[in-house]
Amino acid sequence: MSNFDFDLFTIGAGSGGVRASRLAAQYGARVGVAEEYRVGGTCVIRGCVPKKFLVYASEYGHGFEDARGYGWSTENISFDWSKLIENKDDEIDRLNGIYIRNLKNAGAEIYQSRATLKDRHTIHLHAEDRDVTAEKILIATGGAPWTDDTVPGHDLGITSNEAFHLKTLPKHIVVAGGGYIAIEFACIFRGLGCDVCLVYRGEDILRYFDRDISVQVHSELKRKGIRVITQAVFDKIEAHEGDRKRIYLSNGAELETDLVFWAVGRKPATGGLGLEEAGVELNKAGAVVVDEYSRSSVDNIFAVGDVTDRVNLTPVAIREGAAFAESQFNNTPTQMDYRFIPKAVFSQPPVGSVGYAEFEARNEFKNIDIYKTNFRPMKNMLTGSEERVLMKLVVDADNDRVLGCHIVGPEAAEMIQCIAIAVKTGCTKADFDQTVALHPTIAEELVTMREKYKAPI
Ligand code: NDP
Repeated sequence: MSNFDFDLFTIGAGSGGVRASRLAAQYGARVGVAEEYRVGGTCVIRGCVPKKFLVYASEYGHGFEDARGYGWSTENISFDWSKLIENKDDEIDRLNGIYIRNLKNAGAEIYQSRATLKDRHTIHLHAEDRDVTAEKILIATGGAPWTDDTVPGHDLGITSNEAFHLKTLPKHIVVAGGGYIAIEFACIFRGLGCDVCLVYRGEDILRYFDRDISVQVHSELKRKGIRVITQAVFDKIEAHEGDRKRIYLSNGAELETDLVFWAVGRKPATGGLGLEEAGVELNKAGAVVVDEYSRSSVDNIFAVGDVTDRVNLTPVAIREGAAFAESQFNNTPTQMDYRFIPKAVFSQPPVGSVGYAEFEARNEFKNIDIYKTNFRPMKNMLTGSEERVLMKLVVDADNDRVLGCHIVGPEAAEMIQCIAIAVKTGCTKADFDQTVALHPTIAEELVTMREKYKAPI
C-alpha cells in the first residue's frame, strides 16, 4: 500500500469520473472523488437526461396536432411548464441518488467540495479547507457552456445550464448557434409553443454532419415555424422594458425577445484547477492534453471526458473512464476506440448518424457510391404533415463497405444505434441488400435502396 491517502483521487463526478472511480474501487483501489456541484455531472444533472425529458414534452406539442388526422379531438389541451420542470427535477434527484449510492457501494469516498491541485500528488478540498494526497489523480471536470463576452450585454442571455430552471416559459426566444444544443433547444421551445428564432454565424447548421443532414434539418426547422437567420452574429444585446431584450445583429437586423439563449459551444473546465502549476499541459482550447491511455504530460495525472476535448459525448467519457481504470487498476492496458461512434441530435425530427459523412469519405477514399432517399413517411399521410425522412448510405465503391449512414426522421437515433453495429463490424452494401425488409416501417428503406445517387448535372 502506498503512503498516499488514496490510490486514486478523481476530480469531477460526471459520467467519466464516476465510471473510472467505481471500477477502480471495485478493483481494490482506495478512491476519493470530489464534486463541487452534483454527482452525475452534466449529462445527468443539466444535459442529456433532462434535455431528453424536455424533448419528450415538446414532441407532444406536434403529436396533438397530428392526432387529429387519426380521429382524435384535441381541444382544450393545455401545458404547464412548472409541472414539467418539477417532475423532471424529481427524476434528476432520483438519478443523482443512484449515482451517489453506486459510488459509495463500490467503496469510493465522496467529497462535496471544489478540489484543486497543489502539486502532482496533493489535492486541496476547499469545503473542508484541507489537503489529501493520491498516487494517481484523474481530472474529469467536463466542460461548461460559455457566452461571448466580446458582445456588449452578453450576460443578459442564458445558457443551457439555466434553461433547465426557467421559472416560466418565454413567449419569444432567440438562440445563438447552429450546433447540437442550439438546434435541440430551438426545437424544444418551438414544440412547446414558443416563437423561436435561431441565429447562426455560418451557412450550414450542424456543419460537422453530412451536408444532406444540414440541409434537411434546416428545412424541417423552417417547416416547424422556426425562423433561421444565417451568416449573422450578435453585435449587442440591450435590456428593454418589461424584461424584454433587444438584439442587434451583425447583418443590421434587430430582434426583440423575451429570452436570449447562448448555445455557442462548451469549453473544457480547467480554469483555476492548478493544472498548469502542477505541470499539466493544456492545449489552446484549455483542454488537458493526453495520450491514448488518457495520461497527461505529468505521468501520475490522467484526464477523461469533455475536459480532454476529444469526442465530447457521454458514452465516450464512460468508455474513456473504463479504459483508464482497466489500464491503471486491473493490469489490462486498454485504449478507447474512436471509430464509428454513433451520434444523434434530438431535433424534431431527430438526426442519427454513424461513420463517414460524404465529404469526409470523398477526402479519404478513392471511389465513393452514395445511396439516398427522401420521402414522406406513411404516418404523415393521415396527419397532413409535410415532414420528410432522409436516409443516406456512404459506400466505399472499391470494396462495397458501408462507411456511413445518416438519417433524419422519426426514431433516427434508435435506428442508428442498431445500424452502428453493422457499420462498425464492416458490413457491405450487399449485406444490407440481402437483409429482408420489415414492412411497413421507415427503417425498411435502409435495405431497399438499390440505385446509386447521381448528382443532377
Ligand atoms: P457545438 O460545437 O455543437 O456548436 C456550437 C455552435 O456555436 C456552432 O454552430 C458554432 O458555429 C457556433 N459558435 C461558436 N462560436 C461562436 C461565436 N463566437 N458566435 C456565434 N456562434 C458561435 O456546441 P454545443 O454547445 O451545441 O454542444 C457542445 C457539445 O456538447 C457538442 O459538441 C456535443 O459534443 C455535446 N452535445 C451532444 C448532444 C447529443 O449528443 N445529442 C447534445 C448536446 C450537446 P460553427 O459551426 O460555425 O463553428
